[in-house]
This record gives sequence, structure tokens and C-alpha cells, in this order.
Amino acid sequence: MTGRYTERVVVVTGAARGIGLGIASRFAGEGADVLMVDADGSVVDRARDLAAESGTGTLGLRADVTSPEDVARAFALAEDTWGRLDVLVNNAGVITISRLEDLTHDAWQKVLSVNTTGTFLCAQAAAAAMRRHGRGGRILNAASGQARQGFVYTPHYAASKFGGVGLTQSLAKELAKDRITVNAYAPGIVGSDMWDYNDRVWGGLLGTYEPGELMAEWIAGIPLGRAGTHDDIAHLLLFLASPEAEYITGQTINVDGGMFMN
Ligand code: NAD
Repeated sequence: MTGRYTERVVVVTGAARGIGLGIASRFAGEGADVLMVDADGSVVDRARDLAAESGTGTLGLRADVTSPEDVARAFALAEDTWGRLDVLVNNAGVITISRLEDLTHDAWQKVLSVNTTGTFLCAQAAAAAMRRHGRGGRILNAASGQARQGFVYTPHYAASKFGGVGLTQSLAKELAKDRITVNAYAPGIVGSDMWDYNDRVWGGLLGTYEPGELMAEWIAGIPLGRAGTHDDIAHLLLFLASPEAEYITGQTINVDGGMFMN
């Protein structure tokens, strides 16, 4: 098939489900060959389905973004298969929610390790490949409303996402001379397994909410009056990865219906 991203190679992490699967679907739908990476091995089946639907060479790989060996394997597979790399979407992320006194060192490390260190490792490998090919490239990092303002009971998640903004700005400055732009996208509330967990655990800590009630209350406060969709996020990324966005770098862009305006 031919589309806006035909003959472009895109790596999406955390692509087995949720927003990452939505992003991979839209890039493949526009003709890109997508390497879908996830710590969950079901990504291989999701990629097979998507390759069949889109007629692209889309592939899935079970790999953990916190492992330098797994990350090296993922980017070697993309380069060996397609001989180029155009876009990296650093989407993989995790959250846990707990009171400060219950927040374990392991939970702190895990969230920082996936959300911030994983983003660094993948960006480093992607930038090396993009530089080798000399065609520039796009690195897109998942931030969050929590990259704008920390919420209660998630200091580690907020730290990891604020950290991602700093990483985005620093890499944008370093990689500009190679025509590699680096931007971040900040979803607000998007339906996913992560949000089901947030609704249940924040709901339990913040009051006596029935399932779905806390999310409904927060969505009611969104100026544009609804939760975000996977496509809302993917549309921004298709733009940021396009030639029309070549003059945008170092930015964190909210895609949240107006939940945050800073
Ligand atoms: P999700 O939990 O539904 O999916 C996350 C995916 O990342 C899963 O497939 C999981 O297996 C994968 N993953 C986790 N750890 C990994 C690792 N070490 N290596 C590789 N893959 C790993 O989450 P989602 O809601 O789709 O969120 C996607 C991104 O968007 C995350 O970075 C999240 O922080 C961010 N975000 C989501 C929302 C929202 O409303 N859902 C809001 C703000 C930010």
C-alpha cells in the first residue's frame, strides 16, 4: 500500500496495547513499516495482525526498554530489516499510585527506569542509527499532564515525566545539527489499562468512588468535554513526524482537550 509514510521506518515502544498500539496502527495505516516493541510478548501477534491489515512489513519484538541489550537488539532488527530509521516513538510507560509512606524503593526505581531511562536508551540507539543514515529523523517522547503538574500519590511518575521533558529539550539541542528533532506529547486522560488502574487506585485513595466515577469526574472538568482517544494522540504524532513539522523541536505539546494550558 502507499501512504504518507510509505518507505518510512517507525519504531514504537509499548505497542502491545493502549495508546502505543493506536499509534502503531495509524503509522502502519499510512504505509510505514513499524517495529512494534513491548515487554509483553503479545506484541508479536498484534504486529502480525497489523501487517496483514495494512500490507506493510510491520513486525513485533518482545523487548524491555530498560535493558540496554534488548534495546540494541530492537534497533539492530529495524536497521537490518529496512536499512533506515525515520521515527522513534518512546511510548512505553508505567505508573503506580501509593501514599508516600507506602511508596517502595522498587516502585520508585521501576517507574523511573521505564519512563525515563527507557526513553534515554531508545533515543540514544535511535539517534545513532539516524546519524549513520544521514537523513535526519524524529524522536517523540510520551510525557503526561504529570509533566506539567505533579498529582498526589504519584511523585515517582511525576518525576519520571518531568525528567522526560528535560531529556527532550537537551537532546533537541544536541541533535539539531543532525536534523533530528525531539519533541514530547502530553496526553491527559485516554482510555487504557493504565487509566483503569488509575481510576481504581486513585479512586480508592481519594474517596469512596465506584469504578469509573473518578475518571468521569475528571473528564467532566476537561474544557473540550471528553476523554482523549488513541487517534487524538496519533494525529499529533503523524504531524510531528511529517515534513511540515521540520521546524519544531524541544517542545512538549499537550493533547488533552485543554486540561492543561501551560
Ligand atoms: P498501557 O499501560 O495501556 O500500555 C503501556 C504499554 O507499555 C504496555 O503494552 C506495556 O506492556 C508496555 N511496557 C511497560 N513497560 C515496558 C518496558 N519496560 N519495555 C517495553 N514495554 C513496556 O498505557 P497507556 O495508557 O497506553 O500509556 C502509554 C503512554 O502514555 C505511557 O508512557 C503513559 O505514561 C502515557 N500517558 C498515558 C495517559 C493515559 O491517559 N492513558 C495519560 C498521560 C500519559
